[in-house]
Amino acid sequence: MQKAPDAPGRRVVIVGGVAGGMSAATRLRRLDEEVEIVVFERGEYVSFANCGLPYYVGGVIREREDLLLQTAEGLAARFRIDVRTSSVVTSIDCSSRTVSVLDETTGRRYSEPFDSLILAVGATSGASLPGEGVPVRTLRTVDDVDAIDALLDITPTGARAVVVGGGFIGLEAVENLFRRGVNVTLVQRGDRPLSPLDPEMAAPVIEALELHEVDLRLNTTVTRICAGRVELSDGDAVEADMVIDARGVRPDAALAMDAGLAIGPTGGIAVDAFQRTSDPFIYAVGDAAEKVDAVDGAASLVTMAGLANRHGRAAADAICGIGRPSRPALGTAVVGLFDLTIAMVGWSEHRLRAAGRPHRVVHTHPASHATYYPGAETMAMKLLIDPASDEILGAQIVGGAGVDKRIDVLATAMAAGLEASALAELELAYAPQYGSAKDPVNLAGYVAGNLVSGTTRSIQWHELEDARTAGALLVDVRSRGEHAAGSIPGAVNLPLDELRARAHELPEGRIIVHCQVGQRGHTAARLLSQLGRDVVNLDGGYATWIAGTRTVRAPQMSAA
Ligand code: FAD
Repeated sequence: MQKAPDAPGRRVVIVGGVAGGMSAATRLRRLDEEVEIVVFERGEYVSFANCGLPYYVGGVIREREDLLLQTAEGLAARFRIDVRTSSVVTSIDCSSRTVSVLDETTGRRYSEPFDSLILAVGATSGASLPGEGVPVRTLRTVDDVDAIDALLDITPTGARAVVVGGGFIGLEAVENLFRRGVNVTLVQRGDRPLSPLDPEMAAPVIEALELHEVDLRLNTTVTRICAGRVELSDGDAVEADMVIDARGVRPDAALAMDAGLAIGPTGGIAVDAFQRTSDPFIYAVGDAAEKVDAVDGAASLVTMAGLANRHGRAAADAICGIGRPSRPALGTAVVGLFDLTIAMVGWSEHRLRAAGRPHRVVHTHPASHATYYPGAETMAMKLLIDPASDEILGAQIVGGAGVDKRIDVLATAMAAGLEASALAELELAYAPQYGSAKDPVNLAGYVAGNLVSGTTRSIQWHELEDARTAGALLVDVRSRGEHAAGSIPGAVNLPLDELRARAHELPEGRIIVHCQVGQRGHTAARLLSQLGRDVVNLDGGYATWIAGTRTVRAPQMSAA
């Protein structure tokens, strides 16, 4: 590989030997056979599968060795990387370009020079939960899962755990403790699990937790841990054999801050598009480093493995003089919970509202593949669109099969700057067992296109009450059987197949039509608007309305 003449140097020190750090180290070696690479890792293990840790607790990943993707010896043999485990970098001296190191095995302290330094130190959990008397573990390291595993082994059947924090890691902890037969209480500060989801999209998550008899405590925090019990802010106390602390993580920026490096407004280490910090010889990547948000271009935090790996590689490229500016972060994420797959990209509706950013919303409930082929599963899909430019601002999908594939198509479309209505024109692979001739992504594009052209007008589930107070008539165009099985209070039932003949029965004034998921409602709205009526379709139909109203009340949509 050709080294650029202004490349910063021949000795690269990396702090942190997991996702971002090890991506940087191996990329460096592939680019430059001569460069000296030293990696310091505080823990006993490098390059372990932190994303797999919950599944080892649950027994899905059976062999502990499977979590350990590489060893210091293996990395030395294949990549000639000097990996020093149980070694903590305690400070950085930017002027002399050295780091101070504590070897925790021997107690020796020494300093190590660098030409370039990469900080890949990850995230930290913050302050401990108050009190003691129940073992408390985070779920971040191999030591954590060893300890959790040992606790489960010695606790008789029917162990009780309190998981604190209903984010990605909290939900994975819940699912895997359930697999081990543990009775779980999930304590979540906010009004729904997975707070980036909008309320109506979180409804299936709550249902899945309830179905599996998880004791879900929303709008609740832990006030104190004491002898075998966890006291909660709702006044209750829960008996517990263990507590898993899965509260949100924040960038571990202490080392950088102490060295005088610039910290961004989010609390992450500030970096430029080449992962360079305020010191041109020091780079930062992964959870510790700030990102640029793809939707508004502002500083943001996204603590995901894909970005840590990508930016580790980017830092190595920059050091070797072949760097290219990083793309902004979309925040694409997926998590499994029992039979559900929950995925998201970009911004949520509540975030857009909080920022005062105009947006248009599309809810659909497509099938994962052709419904005539066995095994199709329904997913709830939500698309957020800029009404002026038709830019895709975000998406959320909750369902079973096929969710992961669709979120990746939408993330790719966002990265490519595709307009929402152009999703209709994507040629996506189709055979009945994999998709539909009109793929869920195409269908969302059709709705988006109809909104652009004015072919359809829609109203959201949380706008319904106000519209009806203003005098609109709500017409349920589903069959009589569907209406009888569950309906929005006060809705008039006029099945779609009778609508053409009976439209004259509808009184003057605005009409809101709805069906189960929005599709028949669209046909009804088209029919009535061609008859000269003022009509809007309830977006996502009864399914979205029931999900939204079951979860939280509409005013909470305005909270970020
Ligand atoms: P890390 O991979 O956390 O590595 C940082 C390392 O730096 C640590 O090993 C730490 O010991 C070391 N270190 C810190 N300070 C020092 C120091 N001073 N001296 C020496 N060493 C130091 N992301 C996804 O995208 N998908 C998932 O499914 C997913 N699941 C996850 C499940 C769990 C349980 C966890 C904990 C995380 C998960 N993540 C997931 C997040 C993902 O693992 C992180 O975004 C990613 O690992 C961040 O990489 P990083 O290099 O910044 O930090």
